[in-house]
Amino acid sequence: MASVGFIGVGNMGSLMARNLIRAGHSLKIYDLSEEAANFVAQSGAKAVKSVKEAATDVDFVVTMLPVGANVRAVFIDAGVLEAAKPGAVLIDSSTIDVETACAVHAAAKAAGYEMLDAPVSGGVTGADAATLTFMCGGDKAVFEKAKPLLQGMGKNIVHCGAPGYGQVTKICNNMVAAINTLAICEAFVMGEKLGVDRNVLFDVLSTSTASSVMLTKSCPMPGPIPSSPSSNGFKPGFAAKLMMKDLRLSQAAAQSAGTPTPLGAVATAAFAMHMANGFGDLDTSSIVKLINPDI
Ligand code: NAD
Repeated sequence: MASVGFIGVGNMGSLMARNLIRAGHSLKIYDLSEEAANFVAQSGAKAVKSVKEAATDVDFVVTMLPVGANVRAVFIDAGVLEAAKPGAVLIDSSTIDVETACAVHAAAKAAGYEMLDAPVSGGVTGADAATLTFMCGGDKAVFEKAKPLLQGMGKNIVHCGAPGYGQVTKICNNMVAAINTLAICEAFVMGEKLGVDRNVLFDVLSTSTASSVMLTKSCPMPGPIPSSPSSNGFKPGFAAKLMMKDLRLSQAAAQSAGTPTPLGAVATAAFAMHMANGFGDLDTSSIVKLINPDI
């Protein structure tokens, strides 16, 4: 069993850390929010007072932070890259921009550490059930070293390639998910306005060529799936503001790659309007309100 310093125990990190504890690993926890750290400590981890303390004398440092600036701050400014012991493997599971991911990889390498960017898909449900998909960027040998630990938090552990490739894969996935969700919203609002019951639409679309995970797992129309966020006041789930963040990352990546993403651009504009309407804290599926504000 490994020793782990886990930094950032919010909605996702708290559940992931708890699964590592359940798997028998010994954890030190740090979060800017003492309350968040203490909550996880109740499951059997040691809450510590600084990034450096969390990173000292552990086999793995895992971070689950909101944005790239936080990742840079934790690894470089707050001292993971000074405090970690030689041979420690550093894993950043936050969803961040490719540029920062590559910069932190380079800084880790210069300081003598092995690192993976390993963002996840599966949301809080997957984090709770330890069924997350991990998309990993970094050396294959480092991936193999980290895999047994990641298996304590996820089911599909995938090596995507070089440093930063985990983040590239993650934003590709989320750009598709956002575009798909918008398409489903348009179809349901149009179909219902023309008289077809939403449950009939769901039955047919979910078993025909329109089917997708975004439809069958988190149908944006309230009703057809009683357990979906849309049927429960759009309580997240995956907050629309996080999808907004990922769409912005996708558009920055598309620009740097010089590839056209017209549908990604429309989805980004749609979610920006949804933010302006004040719905950022609702589940991503609440984007249906942009098509029909009465829902
Ligand atoms: P969150 O805001 O709930 O948790 C982040 C935690 O990091 C907070 O507790 C915060 O206090 C802590 N933090 C921030 N800066 C810190 C610092 N400098 N030092 C220590 N702690 C710090 O966010 P979340 O929902 O857990 O998401 C984390 C990451 O996972 C994001 O990049 C998000 O895009 C990604 N993600 C989230 C979901 C989801 O469903 N929530 C799904 C997939 C991926």
